[in-house]
Amino acid sequence: MTGRRRKLMKELIVVGGGAAGMMGALCAARMGAKVTLIEKNEKLGKKLYITGKGRCNLTNACDTADFFKNVVSNPKFLYSSVYGFDPQAVMSFFEELGLKLKTERGNRVFPDSDKSSDVIRALEQGMRKEGVEILLNTTVEKINTENGAFSSVTVENKDRKCLKADACFIATGGLSYASTGSTGDGYRFAKEAGHRITDVFPSLVGLKCEGDLPSRMEGLSLKNIELSARIEKKVVYREQGELLFTHNGVSGPLILTLSAKFTKKLAASGAELFIDLKPALDREALDARILRDFNEAANKMFCNSLDKLLPSSMIPVIVELSGIDPQKRVNSVTKEERKRLLELIKAFPLTVTSIGGYNEAVVTKGGVDVKEIDPSTMESKLVRGLYFIGEVLDVDALTGGFNLQIAWSTAYCAALAFTG
Ligand SMILES: Cc1cc2nc3c(=O)[nH]c(=O)nc-3n(C[C@H](O)[C@H](O)[C@H](O)COP(=O)(O)OP(=O)(O)OC[C@H]3O[C@@H](n4cnc5c(N)ncnc54)[C@H](O)[C@@H]3O)c2cc1C
Repeated sequence: MTGRRRKLMKELIVVGGGAAGMMGALCAARMGAKVTLIEKNEKLGKKLYITGKGRCNLTNACDTADFFKNVVSNPKFLYSSVYGFDPQAVMSFFEELGLKLKTERGNRVFPDSDKSSDVIRALEQGMRKEGVEILLNTTVEKINTENGAFSSVTVENKDRKCLKADACFIATGGLSYASTGSTGDGYRFAKEAGHRITDVFPSLVGLKCEGDLPSRMEGLSLKNIELSARIEKKVVYREQGELLFTHNGVSGPLILTLSAKFTKKLAASGAELFIDLKPALDREALDARILRDFNEAANKMFCNSLDKLLPSSMIPVIVELSGIDPQKRVNSVTKEERKRLLELIKAFPLTVTSIGGYNEAVVTKGGVDVKEIDPSTMESKLVRGLYFIGEVLDVDALTGGFNLQIAWSTAYCAALAFTG
């Protein structure tokens, strides 16, 4: 490349070598920019590596219109970027990089190898091919501006120095799983540049519950149950699906969705949960079913009569909560006692005391206020040449590949805008 050509190339610094940063750097380099990617860890994509339990659910092959139903915060802000680089485009992009993909239940897209490391490798090889300079073990300390425009970043590695460029993408992620490198630096950069940061919370996260009931059933996964959540005396959520008991509360798909939709309320006032263990049976049908089981086990003790109805680790808990003498013969359980048992099966109660921490949250809710970001470019409305992409923004979605799609789409959008 001649000196003159290099000079004509627009120069870009990308801060953060996660999903959004790698996509932004690769696309901008392909579109003709000279790109330097700065990552504080010793390797790229540490969080990407643990996504989808190590398999990386990298997008969701749904209609783009359906995509927005799964975005919890600020879906409208994402219209332009997601329509510009939608799930189908993301799938083609990775397949062109040589990554074979497969689509599973719920339209979840994974690498055919089931290895998130293959996603990282594809992006890294793509970047190297396009000549992206990758600086590892290098922390950006400060974003410098001049006359309302981005000017340089100050980095901290062996020696503190300033790196200049025409523009900068902030792709530093949120606050969840800090051990992967997302420690909220981007919020500080945004604040220093004059941006507002909305309140941040752990989201897609387990909930802590009162008492020792969950821990007594730790590891038990309930399938096909119906969960209702009551917050401030109002039922705000009722869904069927899967729930998991943990050492201090509950988790699993239903709970993660609940946590994403009602994060702030749950954090402020907790909730009452009710689990319907037999949603396919109404109270009358369930009573008939219990009577049938009792008749078949007429001479058994009550505590030994529930194994056809309930998972084994739940039986001692339900027996205790029912107040029925565990040693009592089932043929002498009274109608009143049976009613108490039935209520526990239809509405097993738990009290949520708080939401889980960032160390177990899949995403961070909140972030750089999207009102101050141009949705068609991801550029700051306050500082020219400063772009925000990925989880650092106040956008988040449900599980299913939607959060990574947000990272890819916002990154592509910024790359196109910067080089266009
Ligand atoms: C356990 C888990 C499983 C998940 N599974 C899925 C899934 O299957 N599908 C899905 O869609 N989403 C999933 N997510 C969410 C998804 O991983 C994130 O939404 C996504 O990684 C956000 O990408 P990002 O590039 O914005 O941030 P990150 O991936 O967090 O990347 C930020 C990068 O910036 C670097 N950095 C930060 N500050 C600095 C600094 N000052 N200087 C230099 N570098 C810096 C960090 O080291 C990090 O590498 C999962 C999340 C977790 C925690």
